[in-house]
Amino acid sequence: MSQDLYQAPDYFQLDELLTEEHILVRDAAREWVKREVSPIIEKAAQDAKFPTSIVSGLAEIGAFGPYIPEEYGGAGLDQMAYGLIMQEIERGDSGVRSTASVQSSLVMYPIWKFGSEAQKQKYLPKLASGEFLGCFGLTEPDFGSNPGGMVTNIKDMGDHYVLNGAKMWISNSPFADIAVVWAKNEQGRIKGLIVERGMKGFSTPETHNKWSLRASATGELIFDNVKIPKENILPNKDGLGAPLLCLDSARYGIAWGAIGAAMDCYDTALRYAKERVQFDKPIAGYQLQQKKLAEMITEITKAQLLTWRLGTLRNEDKATSAQISMAKRNNVEMAINIAREARQILGAMGITGEYSIMRHMMNLESVITYEGTHDIHLLITGMDITGLPAFK
Ligand SMILES: Cc1cc2nc3c(=O)[nH]c(=O)nc-3n(C[C@H](O)[C@H](O)[C@H](O)COP(=O)(O)OP(=O)(O)OC[C@H]3O[C@@H](n4cnc5c(N)ncnc54)[C@H](O)[C@@H]3O)c2cc1C
Repeated sequence: MSQDLYQAPDYFQLDELLTEEHILVRDAAREWVKREVSPIIEKAAQDAKFPTSIVSGLAEIGAFGPYIPEEYGGAGLDQMAYGLIMQEIERGDSGVRSTASVQSSLVMYPIWKFGSEAQKQKYLPKLASGEFLGCFGLTEPDFGSNPGGMVTNIKDMGDHYVLNGAKMWISNSPFADIAVVWAKNEQGRIKGLIVERGMKGFSTPETHNKWSLRASATGELIFDNVKIPKENILPNKDGLGAPLLCLDSARYGIAWGAIGAAMDCYDTALRYAKERVQFDKPIAGYQLQQKKLAEMITEITKAQLLTWRLGTLRNEDKATSAQISMAKRNNVEMAINIAREARQILGAMGITGEYSIMRHMMNLESVITYEGTHDIHLLITGMDITGLPAFK
């Protein structure tokens, strides 16, 4: 890939709304992405290999459990800082951000919120340092948008449980040390449990041939009579509401992350348009290209403001799931549209790995589908404003 010349756009001086700590944390992540992610990410995506070399760096910038208390190894930051870190990581690559999102919001968050003190002590510090990587198993082959229909199940055997079933499309599964898995008990109630690599009957085959999120490993979780010790059940919350709370936290991070991908595409296209000469002048001087660039920065600015406000609400513990859905949906669509327009500004160069745009565009095809599809988030907004669920 060409040298990373990224300059973050801040058209409405939103930095003035951030604290010194936010800017410090954000800039550290920004510098790290430039130094450690940009030089290696194109090859990792082309090779379809998760770059394990960046795991310790992700831990150092606080990307694993940014808001988890320091006593458990987290960074003890607020929601705005968490969002800013996700924005910067996804500026580099949505697959790398996915790894950080899963680790923080889908593995550490449920252990922190619903786990026993012993589970928190055992797993959180190792997850925060990157010694352990985790994954989150909710989606099944026959239950994606409708996870409540899951058939993965646990049976109480007195001194332990037995887990059977399969999960699909699971980020990080091929190398995860632990999996937070959602399964139904004999009463049909959804429970969260921690499955450890090495447990007999537990396997994690990788899913190949993805055109999207190629630098993030995706796979299955297969449970064939896996013996689960009772102390591995998350004791403090059950029902579908438990995984949905995890998804709220991850979707909030995605709303920020998508802005990062959009900012990178816009910045790349702006620089290219100013340098690329056709018909004796830079293409940035033509109205058609200016329309594209002007609309991009307008949409990025609107998304930045929406997400900053959402961060404020999250800090006050007032953000609703529907507000998070709206921000995730809006920002991912905004980013994918910007990636497509930016790609065109680069002409033929836009389809090469010399620039990040095509990789962002392909990554965003997953981001618009996972953690609730674009349609489902619209239906959540529809339900919120009308009071009528249109899912069924
Ligand atoms: C790269 C990647 C990584 C992922 N990582 C994880 C992970 O770590 N953990 C995990 O648990 N899952 C993960 N997922 C799964 C992801 O969350 C699901 O793919 C997603 O929830 C959609 O489910 P589905 O693919 O089965 O689509 P389906 O639910 O089958 O939907 C297919 C289409 O039908 C539409 N649709 C569905 N229901 C309705 C309805 N009621 N009304 C109108 N339209 C509807 C959808 O919007 C979609 O367009 C990942 C997916 C990808 C692609």
